[in-house]
Amino acid sequence: MGTNQQSSQKSGERKLILCDPDKCDGCGICELVCSNVKEGAFNPSMSRIRTVRLDHVANMAIACRQCETPKCVEACLKSEALKIDDHILVCDPEKCTLCGWCVEECPFGCLFPDSQAGKMSVVACDLCIHDRIDKMPPCVKYCPKQALSLMPEGLLAQKERENPIYARLSALEKDISQKSKIAE
Ligand code: SF4
Ligand code: SF4
Repeated sequence: MGTNQQSSQKSGERKLILCDPDKCDGCGICELVCSNVKEGAFNPSMSRIRTVRLDHVANMAIACRQCETPKCVEACLKSEALKIDDHILVCDPEKCTLCGWCVEECPFGCLFPDSQAGKMSVVACDLCIHDRIDKMPPCVKYCPKQALSLMPEGLLAQKERENPIYARLSALEKDISQKSKIAE
């Protein structure tokens, strides 16, 4: 609980927790499940997935998108605490100085200060590689509306065609990625 273990189980393809806004009713159960699995407490403020209301009409839960060219990693260059390991964002608590630049830079608001390995650092969704229940991330398993899924990147394009909200989120991510490449 509360530790950000490195992934020994290779995932191969980038995956992310995706929420279907047509199903999500914003109940917040995913936040309670996540905080309980990761922190041992039913406390939404400790969750690595957050429910948001979009355009005052749709509810959605958002967790780290495991971006290919993450702004947070770029922002952390000084301490090199953040890195992508097998398509999953991990933070080394020994290197993290909790400066907060990564938190500021994440356009999805998916990085949070927390205690891991007895030291304050940032944390994000790690897809529960080591905390699966019936082979599913706990938030996915216990969402009462079956709104969450562990989505392989290969299926994202199809989802984007089905729902403009997915397309908007992906467009934001691609824009960030493009700007990062230009800045290199
Ligand atoms: S548990 Fe499911 S329905 Fe409830 S807020 Fe989370 S994603 Fe939405
Ligand atoms: S996969 Fe795990 S860490 Fe990520 S949001 Fe779901 S419960 Fe939280």
